[in-house]
Amino acid sequence: GSGEDGGTTYTVGTDTTYPPFEFEEGGKYKGIDIDIINAIAEEEGFKIELKPMDFGGIIPAILADQLDVAIAGMSITDDRKEKVDFSDPYFDAGLTLVVSEDNNDITSVDDLEGKVVAVKNGTTGADYAEKMKEEAGIKEVRQFNDSPSMFQEVANGNADVLIEDYPVIAYAIKTSNLDLKTVGDRLNGDQYGIAVKKGENQELLEKINSGLQKIKDNGKYDEILNRYLEE
Ligand code: GLN
Repeated sequence: GSGEDGGTTYTVGTDTTYPPFEFEEGGKYKGIDIDIINAIAEEEGFKIELKPMDFGGIIPAILADQLDVAIAGMSITDDRKEKVDFSDPYFDAGLTLVVSEDNNDITSVDDLEGKVVAVKNGTTGADYAEKMKEEAGIKEVRQFNDSPSMFQEVANGNADVLIEDYPVIAYAIKTSNLDLKTVGDRLNGDQYGIAVKKGENQELLEKINSGLQKIKDNGKYDEILNRYLEE
């Protein structure tokens, strides 16, 4: 980033299609993450340049100095903390199993034996499936680059089950005519954080945390959530 007058411009990586957190509409990106990072930038006097990309490419892009920041429905995990620094948490999520509406055979992780599980590359859902694979007797963990392709695979009957963040799949089911349903308990209790390159971006991270606190205090954060979640 550079430029003294209008504030520094930071490149911000985000997922390609992850409603209600980020999605394209009328040629523009919107969603909870997009509005949050814009509101933080406004409070803290910096500018952003948005770079949507496959989720699996985001942390590599931070490590390669192609991104300053990432906000992508990204869960704060110990593995990721080895590579990036996270802001304070800004949203509670958690993974769930998802099957086609007429599937009555899978109701929990105990029912995954011999099943094909669709996941998105680089996600906590993909890690969960890979870790469970042997113990649960999963037949195949099939990787996709984006969430809509993963949803289609199960809706079409090409895979038995998928793993997705609960708020994302709940929103997709509510707003589209996907014949999918969530089953079982949430598999974990992830929280989303905003990521920056580890150890080198303390000043930026402080601005992000300070802006996040300001928008929580002044009501903008709630306004953003309501904009996407209360319809
Ligand atoms: N929250 C999940 C993760 O961090 C999924 C994020 C996403 O698909 N954009 O891996």
